[in-house]
Amino acid sequence: MTTGEIVIAGNPNAGKTSVYNQLTGAAQQVSNYPGVTVEYKSGVMRHEGKKLTVVDLPGTYSLTAYSQEELVARNYIVDRQPALIVDVVDASNLERNLYLTTQIAEMRMPMVIALNMVDAAERRGYQVDADKLSQLLGVPVIPTVASRGIGIKALRDTCIAVVEGRHEAVPAPVCFGHAVDEEIDALSEQVRLYPVLTERFAPSWLATKLIERDEAATAQAQVIDAEATAALVRQAEEAAHRIETHFDTDAATLVAEHRYGIAAGIVKSCVSVTAQARRDITDQIDQVVCNRLVGPLILVGVVALLFFWVFKLSDEWAWLPWIGGWESPTGVVAGVFDLLSAAISPLEARMPMFHSLLDAGIIGGVGGVLNFVPLIFFMFLFVSALEDSGYIARVAFILDRPLRVFGLQGKSILAFIVAGGIGAGGCAVPGIMATRTMREDKDRLLTMLVTPFMNCGAKMPVYAMLIAAFFPGDRILVMMTLWAFSWITALCASWVLRRTIVRGPQTPFVMELPPYHMPVFRGVLRHTWERTWMYIKKAGTIILAINILLWAFMYFPRPSEAVDDTEALAYSMAGRAGKALEPVSSAAGFDWKTNIALVGGFAAKEVVVGALGTAYALENQTDEDFQSLSARLAAHPDWNPVRGFALMIFVMLYAPCFVTIAVIRRESGSWKWAAFSTIYSTALAFVLAVVVYQVGMLLLPYL
Ligand code: GDP
Ligand code: MG
Repeated sequence: MTTGEIVIAGNPNAGKTSVYNQLTGAAQQVSNYPGVTVEYKSGVMRHEGKKLTVVDLPGTYSLTAYSQEELVARNYIVDRQPALIVDVVDASNLERNLYLTTQIAEMRMPMVIALNMVDAAERRGYQVDADKLSQLLGVPVIPTVASRGIGIKALRDTCIAVVEGRHEAVPAPVCFGHAVDEEIDALSEQVRLYPVLTERFAPSWLATKLIERDEAATAQAQVIDAEATAALVRQAEEAAHRIETHFDTDAATLVAEHRYGIAAGIVKSCVSVTAQARRDITDQIDQVVCNRLVGPLILVGVVALLFFWVFKLSDEWAWLPWIGGWESPTGVVAGVFDLLSAAISPLEARMPMFHSLLDAGIIGGVGGVLNFVPLIFFMFLFVSALEDSGYIARVAFILDRPLRVFGLQGKSILAFIVAGGIGAGGCAVPGIMATRTMREDKDRLLTMLVTPFMNCGAKMPVYAMLIAAFFPGDRILVMMTLWAFSWITALCASWVLRRTIVRGPQTPFVMELPPYHMPVFRGVLRHTWERTWMYIKKAGTIILAINILLWAFMYFPRPSEAVDDTEALAYSMAGRAGKALEPVSSAAGFDWKTNIALVGGFAAKEVVVGALGTAYALENQTDEDFQSLSARLAAHPDWNPVRGFALMIFVMLYAPCFVTIAVIRRESGSWKWAAFSTIYSTALAFVLAVVVYQVGMLLLPYL
């Protein structure tokens, strides 16, 4: 039945003519003018005195009936029934080439794949596993570099072995998914009834073509009598219709999609990607991510998603087992401190002062900070993953240009991000150290002065507590607002500073864009844990010490005659200081108890929540049932959302903590800048808090 010919098929430029020339030894010039191969070339391959005809088919991407080349190639195969099809595949463009390969495979004729251009593929960083490809398709796969004759001997030997019947090379059946395959199988049975058809077509191929409503194939099927053809076409139409109602897609499209899916699947399992290709993929992603318009939108989207998941995982989803059911991680931590608080309550009657120290000073203060460990943990987890993925470097890249307008530069971003600029939950200390990579002194100084405005982990408890109290329904929105607020303030402040105190020219710089990487879970987890542990350790040491000190300031001196708790607090040292500040601070809505917390927060901002907790717990010690600070403030007549928001703004911006100030002094080389940083940020924080409070209070009735 077969003509004993070998036909060479493949995509245009895959190297068919090169393979043809190598096999036939024809010293023809390899040319690629359109139409050159539409009138196929044929030549002779000699082997042990026998002659085999080799035909160079026109290059096509598909075997539908849409173009002349496709029809010529396809009809040649159908009409001549060659002994072997050599499919020349461009390994550097594997997926697109395999789309044709699957269609040739559907014809179920002996087939050998010349996996050509493996040199080009390697240059581009792709390694194609020929053995794997051979297993998946069920046909021999020979790697070649046709232009240089590499692999041609193996290809020739394999071709001869197949033609002589010594080597099995009929491709494995191509599957289009269960529902489609069933229709194809049923229709194939009908095709099998006609030997005139089966001697030309693989039944499954003709069935597929008929279901695809391929007109050329339908015409070719008319070798049987008109009535039988009509019946076959009708059955195909019914099959197509069933497929279309099932999938709500045109049958031909569905089949084509499956072919693409097969090609993509093969590539996934046969192609390994080297460093260079990762580079190429990176470049493609970067075209979108670093785009001047889309990039910033993606950034905002990433941050919003980050907050969403952080809140979901840390305290919205109750996914940890806990006494009597399920709790969120934050709920578990709070539960532990509730238990502790309950455990020491018997002390209250016998040792009131000791109990107050334990309950208000330690459990209230440290517990208030540790409550946010789950939040911080998940924040760090996502930021670490983003860092490892290479995305953070893109953020610096996207923002370099706009930052220059404000007198900063892309590298400033790295400092901001370490300090909590993506989402929240960094630390200004390593942020300021990160400015060491900046060569320009003025850029560096400016970056140091505004980096503390970022939302570091210490501010998170304050935000979280106040958001829970006043904006429980809008957590993500408020966090996004605070995030934007910190950036806008940092940018505006540096704009002003650049034009006043820190004048100087700006240097251009090259921003490196490392390739994207899938973050390695273990690495991310270790990094996250290290940062979280630092936070916990800080809570157990510095914060604990300051809290005890602050508690003492809030507890002593005690008034001699019995008064209520609020009066006792007011009588204490801290109370007097807070009261002294109240005439000024009230412009921003802060009462004397808030002032106590804010003064404590000069040392470290984690203290603010603890100290507020202590102040309000001391005030309300007569309360029967335990109430969280958030609930207490939400119910308190003096508090409202505007005041809560003004407090968040103040905490965000006022003086950096002691450690940060010390680092600024070391890195800038002078106490002058450390002092300047403290004073200007506190002044700026106060002005903005006053503006927010006053404007907010005016608007409050209308909100
Ligand atoms: P055709 O369109 O499929 O007939 O492809 P050709 O045989 O005309 O080859 C297209 C181009 O690719 C020519 O410039 C060839 O020299 C080149 N080429 C063919 N095979 C290889 C190969 O294995 N590696 C490389 N790097 N180039 C090749
Ligand atoms: Mg050619």
